[in-house]
Amino acid sequence: MKVDCLGPAIVQPMIIGKSQKEIDKMRASGQLVGRVLRELRTMVGPGMTTLEVDQAAEKMIRDAGAFPTFKGYNGFPFSICASVNEQVVHGFPSAYLLKDGDIFSIDVGVTLDGFVGDTAATIPVGTVGEELKKLIRVTEECLDLAIEQCWPGRHLGDIGYAVQSHAEAHGYSIVRDYVGHGIGRRMHEDPQIPNYGKPGKGVKIKKGYVFAIEPMVNMGSLHTKTLKDGWTVVTVDGQPSAHSEHTVAITEEGPEVLTLVRSSPAVKEKLAGLAGVA
Ligand code: MG
Repeated sequence: MKVDCLGPAIVQPMIIGKSQKEIDKMRASGQLVGRVLRELRTMVGPGMTTLEVDQAAEKMIRDAGAFPTFKGYNGFPFSICASVNEQVVHGFPSAYLLKDGDIFSIDVGVTLDGFVGDTAATIPVGTVGEELKKLIRVTEECLDLAIEQCWPGRHLGDIGYAVQSHAEAHGYSIVRDYVGHGIGRRMHEDPQIPNYGKPGKGVKIKKGYVFAIEPMVNMGSLHTKTLKDGWTVVTVDGQPSAHSEHTVAITEEGPEVLTLVRSSPAVKEKLAGLAGVA
């Protein structure tokens, strides 16, 4: 989500803690959207349009009795955000034909039984270069490191620091204009979760909080701009960007990644056959 520059400075965030029953419902929406993204990952390839991926996502979501949360959200017209190469987030699915060597970020959300699940990944199309593979890998590592900070008693700054320090250690930069967010009955709840920060600073994390954590990592500079469509965010320098997101519940025993799906050996094999996917 777009960072609200004034909000955190002048208003205490209104964080809605979730009961166990609510987290159980969020697990269902999280697992659904996780499975949708996994399925999209297996179908993406050179020669496919990003609009076809959007249509496949919408069908899967509706067939499961859920609603594509993004569709109509503040006027966004599609079920997924489809951001290719230098596009950071919020790209419009289109007639663009994915080609060998592209990197393709898919962000998707579902509402099931009143609760939202939100997840994203950057997917290599066909065979991509080593530099791009590394950008994707480091972005996924940033997300893993952020999730490791999701314990009661830690602070939002610990999450931001984990992401920022790892990305910058690899010479990448962290997007400041867009941040992660609390999530629940609404896709965007308080607090905002920046991908930068200082350890021990910011809001204290409590049991029952649910966060959508989403590092956006640029190969070049951190600066972004929005295209004329009013949505698609691109890097100002035209260098590629990667995005990775999970919905995470804070429990007494640490983080539970609600959108992480366990793959069967057959699916794992299929995914391993796709270039650049670990
Ligand atoms: Mg999100």
